[in-house]
Amino acid sequence: MVAEAIGAWLAENGATAGIEHRHIGRPLIHRDPTVSERCVFCQIVAGTAPATVLREWDDALAIRPRGGVNAGHTLVIPRRHVDNAIVDPAVTATAMARAAEPGAELDCHLDLITSVGALAIQTVMHLHIPLVPREAGDGLPLPWTPQQTTKTAGAAR
Ligand SMILES: [Zn+2]
Repeated sequence: MVAEAIGAWLAENGATAGIEHRHIGRPLIHRDPTVSERCVFCQIVAGTAPATVLREWDDALAIRPRGGVNAGHTLVIPRRHVDNAIVDPAVTATAMARAAEPGAELDCHLDLITSVGALAIQTVMHLHIPLVPREAGDGLPLPWTPQQTTKTAGAAR
């Protein structure tokens, strides 16, 4: 209501202002409403796509990814669609805080990382925080492990 009043006052006084209502626990109303329709994680949040839901919060879900790399592999996704971790710091902070809960319960070494953009191996363009439990000799190298890069291999020659 306050934002609407300020927006109306600005408009009356010749300024151009856009008003966007932001509630972390609710889906963002996109200027392009088809974004949420095309996003598989939004579909999971809406209950229109299948997923193994491990935990639910008002603002996020923890799901088991299809083709997880090990038994504990978990994804925490905010209910609100943001493309990645740098779009809205408040959503990212909330998702990371939620991810810390199952992470603490796993009580092990784990990767708790996220990617921004396809070149950084982000495969679904809806922020997600993967948790991957690790153990010695599990054979799960990170994508940027120097031994796997052709640049490093080439530079070492
Ligand atoms: Zn989405």
